[in-house]
Amino acid sequence: MDTFWGPDFAALERADPEIARVLLAEVDRQGSGLQLIASENFTSSAVLAALGSTLANKYAEGYPGERYYGGCLEADRAETLAVERAKALFGAEHANVQPHSGAAANLAAYAALAEPGDPVLAMELPHGGHLTHGSRVNFSGKWFHPIGYRVCPDTEEIDYDEVRDLALAHRPKMIICGATAYPRLIDFARFREIADEVGAYLMVDAAHFIGLVAGQAVPSPVPHADVVTCTTHKVLRGPRGGMILCRAELAQRVDKAVFPFSQGGPMMHAIAAKAVAFREASQPEFRTYARQVVTNAQALAAGLEAEGMRPVAGGTDTHLALADLRGLGISGRDAETRCDLARITLNKNAIPYDPERPAVASGIRVGSPSVTTQGMREAEMRQIAALIGVAVRSDPDSAGGASRLADAADEVAALVRRFPAYGRQEVMA
Ligand SMILES: *Cc1c(COP(=O)(O)O)cnc(C)c1O
Repeated sequence: MDTFWGPDFAALERADPEIARVLLAEVDRQGSGLQLIASENFTSSAVLAALGSTLANKYAEGYPGERYYGGCLEADRAETLAVERAKALFGAEHANVQPHSGAAANLAAYAALAEPGDPVLAMELPHGGHLTHGSRVNFSGKWFHPIGYRVCPDTEEIDYDEVRDLALAHRPKMIICGATAYPRLIDFARFREIADEVGAYLMVDAAHFIGLVAGQAVPSPVPHADVVTCTTHKVLRGPRGGMILCRAELAQRVDKAVFPFSQGGPMMHAIAAKAVAFREASQPEFRTYARQVVTNAQALAAGLEAEGMRPVAGGTDTHLALADLRGLGISGRDAETRCDLARITLNKNAIPYDPERPAVASGIRVGSPSVTTQGMREAEMRQIAALIGVAVRSDPDSAGGASRLADAADEVAALVRRFPAYGRQEVMA
């Protein structure tokens, strides 16, 4: 772990002490608190080494064997390894590993499968969907015609009958499933049936849970979808980036939609790091990890419920849980601020049919990928849930509130010292 931030940290300290200090402080921030943002993880020192490599210097517009630049031998090797490993890991016929991010992968997927103005059916943002699923402030809502489906008010799970009704009424060109704040499994086969019934493409945005698919902890969307888009930096624990998996007959359309339609040169250092992450995710230990991520999220949700925070959709099958705080009379915004003061990083989140505006929100979202990478298990999840319970009930402006938050922060610090995210962390801090 000596060089996990790059090949030569001493050189950076000499050349740019200000940025060196930022990097050290960020190591400290990540390691001295609890990271419960569901979309984050601690990537390995091997992945960080590839990211800090000289492949960052290389221009390699095009694809392996057909580049617009010379000197791409090693770039071709890196990208071919990434593609072959992704195909093997996910049983996919084709993989494009060039998208710079999940949103970039989604833009390319829209471009591959639809034309501007086409109707696209996707989950509404306040019900767990992503910005790229039709939000008015995003390309998806500006250039396409979004139709939104919701969750059932009672079960808070996807209303497949409503999805089918909307599909029949609007005849979308493409149907999207896969969300950013949905704790339950998605019935991909049911979505496939609905898409087939109306002649729509099925795109699964697996940004959040593709790592659980890699670790075989949840069912794979690959056999059901025309296109699967994802990130590589969430549960999958790779570098920041995106990827598209698809059937062979869509390969050319997908590749052209990434480059030259929506991107220029690929980030070869990130692609090498993706290859490293795919290799790591194909090891048996990653299956153990992915199973523990789910077990931990379930323990966290149960612990929060015991603290009076109702689990949305009754619990979780994945790496994340949403909790409704209305029973405690505390907003998501206040809960986020108070947890921050206790060194617990999580986010406020709208719950389905939330009466509050998004900036306030009635819920919080918690995820287990980072703490599971640190080696924590169910006992620690119970402890964390109790700490969140203390934190959200502690008004920092009240008598006693600030000191309870300080005590919680001390307990968090003691807990994370037992589970360092990176080796030698105590030396760097
Ligand atoms: C995170 C996420 C994305 C976007 O990924 P970025 O890398 O942040 O662009 C897209 N879709 C869903 C469902 C996500 O959760």
